[in-house]
Formats: sequence, structure tokens, C-alpha cells
Amino acid sequence: MFEICNRRIDDKRSELVLLTQALIQIPTINPPGDAYTPCAELIGNRLRKRQFDVQYIRAHDTPGDSDTFPRTNVVARLEGKRPGKTVHFNSHIDVVEVGDDWTFDPFSGEVRDGKVYGRGACDMKGGLAASIIAVEAYIEANPDFSGAIEISGTVDEESGGFGGVAHLASKGLFSKPRVDHVIIPEPLNKDRVCLGHRGVWWAEIETFGTQAHGSMPFLGDSAIRHMGSVVNAFETELYPQLAQKRTQMPVVPEGAKQSTMNFNSIHGGESETGAGGKPDDYDGLPSPNVADSCRLILDRRFLIEEDLATVKGEVTSILDGLKSDREAFDYAIRDIMEVLPTMTERDAPVVEAVSQGIRQVMGKEPEYVISPGTYDQKHIARIGHLHDCIAYGPGILDLAHMADEYVVIEDMIESAKVMCHAIHVLLEAR
Ligand SMILES: [Zn+2]
Repeated sequence: MFEICNRRIDDKRSELVLLTQALIQIPTINPPGDAYTPCAELIGNRLRKRQFDVQYIRAHDTPGDSDTFPRTNVVARLEGKRPGKTVHFNSHIDVVEVGDDWTFDPFSGEVRDGKVYGRGACDMKGGLAASIIAVEAYIEANPDFSGAIEISGTVDEESGGFGGVAHLASKGLFSKPRVDHVIIPEPLNKDRVCLGHRGVWWAEIETFGTQAHGSMPFLGDSAIRHMGSVVNAFETELYPQLAQKRTQMPVVPEGAKQSTMNFNSIHGGESETGAGGKPDDYDGLPSPNVADSCRLILDRRFLIEEDLATVKGEVTSILDGLKSDREAFDYAIRDIMEVLPTMTERDAPVVEAVSQGIRQVMGKEPEYVISPGTYDQKHIARIGHLHDCIAYGPGILDLAHMADEYVVIEDMIESAKVMCHAIHVLLEAR
């Protein structure tokens, strides 16, 4: 079986390239979530021709959904000849904005030196195309397979996945008994199995002050100076603590094996753009004011060994400490996003099946990794309660979201072979 699959995938090389190009040529940029429907239809029409049952599911009332930018997901399912398990390949169809540094047309899908270039080539239309070709090769090689195979193209992963995998999971599409094993072909490199990701906490901290004329700041109280004391306390107290927290999770790259925190933004005083009655194109002088508000958005990434309540407590105890240290210091804190860390067991069926595929196709031991950032596995674990889920796909992680993003054609071929192998192990050999 594995020999037949490998040969069929080799024969489909040009078809694989054409499919990758066709997917790249639909500019599914998010935000705002453009062209989702034609991209979902490209996948659905192709699989319907191969007897899949195809459903389009629009996530009404999720962030960004509108008649101009509908959140259109596609789920395709093919039943086998006998009852059995279901293997599901889930890819997000959205891509991030382009930026100015490209030397290629980001939506042409140009091929050069064995690579397909374009926005989303790596993250993750190359992986989506590889999984479709893997499934098609498998069905041709083994038309009497047991169980079922599903392929989905989902939206909004880059903006949290609420209109995509989270929405489908809330409808039971990522739970047993419908689905047993999930592979997400994100670009984690073709010889790596990604077991999960670190946790995320985003929060907005606001400090308060009292307005006054900038020439007499002693009559007011500066919210910006209060925020300065917050940042300073984080530098001296929190960052050294975070550097001490090391995880047993195999996170890549090395720097992400510890707890981390970034400030996504900081803003105090008069608005710089539109807000506050000031037009976007105003380029006059500001006025002298003492700021009555300053806001900071923090992005804290935490480890499986930490719990969210403690992570939050480290921040609020510093803020409460400042309340007693600084006169008139007051703050508010608002949660923006919470994602718990998730890690699939090393001996889970999908991990073993893909590992066998990597050994067979590449003749090497797979590397087991954890992603520094989250992806749609969080929704499958938390909403779908399905834990036999990994990310595995072609594409070089570091190229994701960069200018001149590409996917190596040979990497797609090899990972398609691994996926084909894994399907057979999961559906027939267990
Ligand atoms: Zn991605």
C-alpha cells in the first residue's frame, strides 16, 4: 500500500503545484477576511467531483462576518466501505496582509527553483494542497478503505479562529464520534510532529490620572508617569521571574522554552489618530495636557507547568503593590484573550501514525515540538474535547508571514506521502 501511495503522489506532482497555485491566487487576506467563499468553493467543488459530501458553513455573527466578508467554511467528508475511525485534515484558508517588501507578485503563485512563491504558500496553502493530494492518492490506492476521511478549509485562524474551527467545533464537527484523529497541516517542517502550543493571556491595563495644563503638571496627575512605574516594576520584578520559568515542553525555538511577555501597544494622553475627535489627516501641533489615561496591552505566553490564575496574579500583585507605593495610583485591568496550553500525548494514535510515516518516507526519527504561538488545535481540544490532534505539514516555520514566502515542492511531496501513510495506519492498520 505504501509503495502505491508514494508512486501516485510522485505522479501527481504537477497537479499538486497547480492546486497550490490556484489556492494562492485567491487573496484570502485576513483582516478583513476577503474572498473566503471562492476559496472554500475551490476546495468543495474539487472534492465533490470525487464523491465527497460537501457542506459550506457560514459563521454568522462571529467577529468580522458580514455580507461583504462572509466567514465561509467548507467541510468535506467521504465515507469508506466499512465502519471505522475518521481522519480529519484541517487547514485554515486565510492569509495575513502582504506588506511592501515582496520581489514576487504575492498572488501569482510563481514557481522558481522548485519552490512555489506567494502569500500563504508556506502558511498554509501548501499544506492544504499536500493534504488534498494525499487523501486523493489514498482513495485511489485503497478505494475500499474503512471509516471516513474529512478535509476542511476554515477561516480566521490568523485572527483567533472564532468564525472558523471554534465555530465548527461548537457544532460538534470536531468531536467524537464524528471525528477521531485530526491533522492540521501548519508549516512546522516536514520531519516534525507538533504536539501543541503554549498558553496565551492578553490583557489591557489602564492607569488613571487627572487632567491639567501641561505648564502646571503639579495641578494634575499623569497617568503616563503611573504607567511608567508599571513598566519599570515589570522590568525589575516580573521579567527576571519569567526568565526562571523553564518548561519541559519541547517548545521551538529555544528562546520560547521559558515564559515570555510582550507589550503589544502602549498609549497615553491625546490620541495620535482619529479617536477623540481628531481627524486622521490632522498634522498640526498637539496641545499641552496632563494625561488622565494610559493603556497598555500585554501579551503573556505561558507554559503547561503554569496555571492561568497564577499568571494573572503575578501581574495584579505588582499593580496592587504600586497602589500602596505611589500616591493616587489606580488601575483597571481587562482580559482580552485567554488560551490554555495544550499538548497531545506522545503515544496518541495520530502521533504514532505520522511518526511511522516520517520514518518510512524520510528514513529518520521525527522531532517532537511545541509551537511558541497558538493555532486552531486549542479549539479542537477545548471545545471539541478531542485530544488526538497534532500539527504536521510542509513549509518552513520561519517563513510564515514573511515577504517572499514560499513552499518547497519536494517538501509538499514528502509530507503528502507521510500523510497518506498516516491515513492508512489510522484507518486500517490499528
Ligand atoms: Zn497558519
